[in-house]
Amino acid sequence: MEELLVAADIVKNYGAYQALRGVSLTLHAGRMAAVMGPSGCGKSTLLLILGLLQKPDGGTYTGLGRDLLSLDAREQALFRRQFFGFILQSCAVFSYSTVEENVEFPLMYSGVPRKERLARVRELLESVNLAGKAQARSNLLSGGEQQRVAIARALIGNPRVLLADEPTGQLDGENTKKLMAHFRRVCDNLAVGIIIVTHDPQVADYCDTVYQLRDGRAIVA
Ligand code: ADP
Repeated sequence: MEELLVAADIVKNYGAYQALRGVSLTLHAGRMAAVMGPSGCGKSTLLLILGLLQKPDGGTYTGLGRDLLSLDAREQALFRRQFFGFILQSCAVFSYSTVEENVEFPLMYSGVPRKERLARVRELLESVNLAGKAQARSNLLSGGEQQRVAIARALIGNPRVLLADEPTGQLDGENTKKLMAHFRRVCDNLAVGIIIVTHDPQVADYCDTVYQLRDGRAIVA
């Protein structure tokens, strides 16, 4: 399996505080990794660094064999757009837009013609079992359905890696199972790699690798 991401000995300091003290993590195509650990252990920091949204203070990081830390800001932004899909807690769905509009949004300014955009949106909505809800207002959906909209939106740019921060945080056990089955399908069918920050052992059960963050380091559980 192709190596998508290799992070080694990542260090991140906030002033005198060492949030990450040498975290190493590898992600292969078609694989799902969980990042777990108590609140404040650095999970979100790690996800932001992996998504090139924050700079580490030390360590190495490659994506498809390319040294990502040596890229300048513009090159990093381009790589980020082409390579990553984000499901962050802070970017939930736009509630007053339809499901279709939510998923189409990242392609609005991409130059992809409307007809092609909508065909791709339809295909993705089918893949997350939301085809029948394309015209529904997003605020009328259940929590599980909204998370599936977020997955479809994160996939619209054909990313190689999905980075998800507590995607099941608001879901009950049944909806968590369904969402994880969707993630699994995305991995298997599209050879996407997924990194999921989670507190939930049920989520970790679906993952191929589980990293526990402890004292600023990652241990494979
Ligand atoms: P988690 O996601 O596991 O809860 P975070 O990555 O959010 O952990 O935070 C790890 C540690 O770094 C925490 O102690 C937090 O207070 C600190 N931290 C996070 N972001 C900042 C920041 N921007 N400035 C200073 N400290 C921060």
